[in-house]
Amino acid sequence: MSNYDTIVIGAGHNGLICATMLARVGQRVLLLEANDKVGGLAADREFFPGFHAPLANTLYALPASTIKELRLQDYDFHMNSETLDLIALSPNEPPITITDQGLEGVDAADSEAYGAYREQLRTFQKALAPFWSKTMPSIGDKDLKALMTFAHMGLKLRMLGRDDMLEFFRVATLPMRDLVDEHFTSASLKAALCWDGLVGTKMAPRSPNQAVLTLLNRMAGRNDGQHVVPHGGMNAFIDALARAAEAAGVETRLSSPVASIVLDGDENGLRCSGVHLTNGETLTASRVVSSADPKTTFLKLVGAANLEIEFSNRIRRLRCDGYVAKLNLALREQPVFTGVHRPDGRLILAPSMDAIEFAWDNAKYGELPENPVMEVTLPSVREAGIAPHGQHVLSANVMYVPADLKGGWNESQRQTLVDRLLAQLEQHAPGLTDLILHRELLTPADLEREYHVSGGHWHHAEPAIDQLLMMRPTYEAAQYRTPIDGLFLCGAGSHPGGDLTGNPGRNAAREILA
Ligand SMILES: Cc1cc2nc3c(=O)[nH]c(=O)nc-3n(C[C@H](O)[C@H](O)[C@H](O)COP(=O)(O)OP(=O)(O)OC[C@H]3O[C@@H](n4cnc5c(N)ncnc54)[C@H](O)[C@@H]3O)c2cc1C
Repeated sequence: MSNYDTIVIGAGHNGLICATMLARVGQRVLLLEANDKVGGLAADREFFPGFHAPLANTLYALPASTIKELRLQDYDFHMNSETLDLIALSPNEPPITITDQGLEGVDAADSEAYGAYREQLRTFQKALAPFWSKTMPSIGDKDLKALMTFAHMGLKLRMLGRDDMLEFFRVATLPMRDLVDEHFTSASLKAALCWDGLVGTKMAPRSPNQAVLTLLNRMAGRNDGQHVVPHGGMNAFIDALARAAEAAGVETRLSSPVASIVLDGDENGLRCSGVHLTNGETLTASRVVSSADPKTTFLKLVGAANLEIEFSNRIRRLRCDGYVAKLNLALREQPVFTGVHRPDGRLILAPSMDAIEFAWDNAKYGELPENPVMEVTLPSVREAGIAPHGQHVLSANVMYVPADLKGGWNESQRQTLVDRLLAQLEQHAPGLTDLILHRELLTPADLEREYHVSGGHWHHAEPAIDQLLMMRPTYEAAQYRTPIDGLFLCGAGSHPGGDLTGNPGRNAAREILA
């Protein structure tokens, strides 16, 4: 008899959600986390005594249906209706502020164009929204459920009306640059609007592929993709998930890295029956659900030798190299950004789309960006308690920083990058460097080591068209089931991908229970 019905590997938000949904229907569920706290890439992080900054520090893609289905209000989670302004900073133009209501600091033409731009994206987003929280049919599947999903998708697009539908097909695969060029003239506005399609991916404004789809996926969140810090901060979100799991009866073990997945084989193929922990313990279960990324799950925990060769090659070829670094600064007081009244929004330090493209050009050849571009937040301006009274946290998502730096990461490369970042910040907030009490740089290589994510990738695997929808992570494992009987996926490497949405975890639980 197995110890558990289900063992879930990884207590990031998707693992927590999947475990909770399974436990709520009466399964005995064990959740195993390698780190000493839950939350994965969104876990609390004290980077200097008294200064906190999780990697993921805003919610934008979390659908209302995740909050409702998990009943997160019962665990003191309340979304904030106040959204964060997006502020475009450039040495060549005055700051531009993008709010819920519209734009400030641009000419009338750009201001008017913004309304139409948002409206068009919102229309497309609504047509796609149901499919992020549904299992994608498998390629070639002819069963009724698969046919219904395709029919539903076709109907939703057809209901856009002829003109919008044709426009959707044109726009959905445009490079971000072409999309925003069609609407706007201001260089820094275009750069800022590109950001949300690109951040976390291996794409720049000129990259063809699906940055617009990524943007639409992000807009499926409760506030149309506008960023929010929930009441009580990001910790309130992770705490609510952890409390929901506990209330459902999930047993959670921290500091319990899984070393391998136990496999039993017969003439019918392989079946998984539990896990071996790195401490030597073996735990058995009727099924194992992994929220670790696909490369970790299949190549490290299952082992390539146990996989059919073509499948293991497809997993090996998955593009999982991250390009986002995190810079956290502990500041003795609030910095002043020139022209910014209150730095409580998201500041995009990228003067133009070319600046983003040039940063990417360096990184794609494995080099540090000469002029990095970044998204800066000062979460302590909104959230009390994450820095000592009167002091502040600055947290920046830096693009593009290659996981696989030419010559490897060493102290001198890290120092070069930090110097370049501080020079950029100093340009917009003179005197900021004098306020620094402590600084922390997390490269994608650091994220891989500390958060156990291959390549330190924001989405666990690049959200490129060949790694999306019914091909995420590969077509043999895109319905959360895997070629190994009893082994499922439930993390960001599955449909619909990364960001804090809970969709991979929810979809996987529903498949398991179907
Ligand atoms: C720098 C950065 C900033 C980001 N900012 C945002 C943001 O502001 N908003 C947003 O929505 N998204 C953001 N993201 C993306 C988001 O954080 C991720 O897409 C999301 O957290 C993925 O959730 P997950 O539960 O699928 O996986 P993870 O959060 O990666 O959780 C997986 C868990 O599995 C554990 N694990 C792995 N292997 C093992 C093992 N062998 N044994 C036991 N446990 C294991 C890991 O330790 C980890 O806790 C950001 C990402 C990065 C890198």
